[in-house]
Amino acid sequence: LLNSHKSGRHFLQIPGPTNVPDRVLRAIDNVTIDHRGPEFAVIGKAVLAGMKKVFKTESHVVIYPASGTGAWEAALVNTLSPGDLVLMAETGHFATLWKKMADKLGLKVEFLPGDWRHGANPAQIEARLACDKEHQIKAVCVVHNETSTGVTSRIADVRRAIDKAGHPALFMVDTISSLASIDYRHDEWGVDVTVSGSQKGLMLPPGLSFNAVSEKALAASKTARLPRSYWDWQEMIAINSTGYFPYTPATNLLYGLHEALEMLFEEGLDAVFMRHQRHAEATRRAVRAWGMEILCKNPDEYSSVLTAVMMPNGHDADAFRKIVLKNFNMSLGQGLTKLSGKIFRIGHLGDFNDLTLCGTLAGVEMGLSLAGVPHRKGGVQAAMDYLAESAAKEVTAS
Ligand code: PLP
Repeated sequence: LLNSHKSGRHFLQIPGPTNVPDRVLRAIDNVTIDHRGPEFAVIGKAVLAGMKKVFKTESHVVIYPASGTGAWEAALVNTLSPGDLVLMAETGHFATLWKKMADKLGLKVEFLPGDWRHGANPAQIEARLACDKEHQIKAVCVVHNETSTGVTSRIADVRRAIDKAGHPALFMVDTISSLASIDYRHDEWGVDVTVSGSQKGLMLPPGLSFNAVSEKALAASKTARLPRSYWDWQEMIAINSTGYFPYTPATNLLYGLHEALEMLFEEGLDAVFMRHQRHAEATRRAVRAWGMEILCKNPDEYSSVLTAVMMPNGHDADAFRKIVLKNFNMSLGQGLTKLSGKIFRIGHLGDFNDLTLCGTLAGVEMGLSLAGVPHRKGGVQAAMDYLAESAAKEVTAS
């Protein structure tokens, strides 16, 4: 399969890993240097400073050579002790995996049930915390952008809910699929640990993950008793101040990160967020024009990163995705666990522009026809109309 050449670019329209831009690939292609030599410290310091800007924090950022799952574990083991009670919100597949990890680590998890079509409910969190007069709950954990459903959680509102309840729990947020695509403010929103990963909005291959750590979380790590060694923040943060790492870092991925950060800052973070919003809106217009249903129920919680589309009853989303891959060389996201076969997910994040969106939506629309899925024509047209109209507005404004 790998040897059979297909002309043109593969459309990697899963919601991460995303298409890695040429500039980033070329940066990764540089020679691997001595990670204890003088050149390395310059890169080390630059990427740590750049990531602080992306997290919007003045506090600490930790970079692990690991997938996002590693950074989830780091957040929990650095701050909590065996048997601690943690409040988590069931927003979808990834929230469920984080919950299972907490179970395995010996934490007690209260999982606020959800229907996988809504984000975390701030009022429900406030009510639960308000009952916890003895402050048994040590942390509240929420996934910002639930990649399995295309639903976001309103993090600033969850923060307000914790404050209204007057509760001292740590606040931990997974931004693995939102960071550098959807506005996120670690300090302003009073988040204690933000978890993220390289392979989505940061436009890198998989392999790096991150924690942004508040002073409150760092203080908690001094007394937290879950066993940890590789993930320990203390040594990492101490050595990072010199631009180095306590163990061999993923040097070439850090070159890529350096380049990706340059690209994000050249475009401007606000412009990056606007671009994602615009592409998401165009995608939703296409879905509605096809007469299909968006999984996310609440417009305030629509994801700018991906759109999950529900298949009409009796039609298998995976059979449809196979047809799209075979005929148009495009990968779409599958439905995970309880959504398996019921939805497909269109990723519209990372290194992406109006024409890549049009190509993506054209592949979906042609695939729907080929797979015999009932729909109306005109989704791509609806998206194009919106893109042209909003581009014209930008031209008038500038
Ligand atoms: N959390 C979210 C929201 C994700 O989208 C993912 C992966 O897609 C993960 C966690 C797990 O990250 P990884 O697969 O990099 O370990």
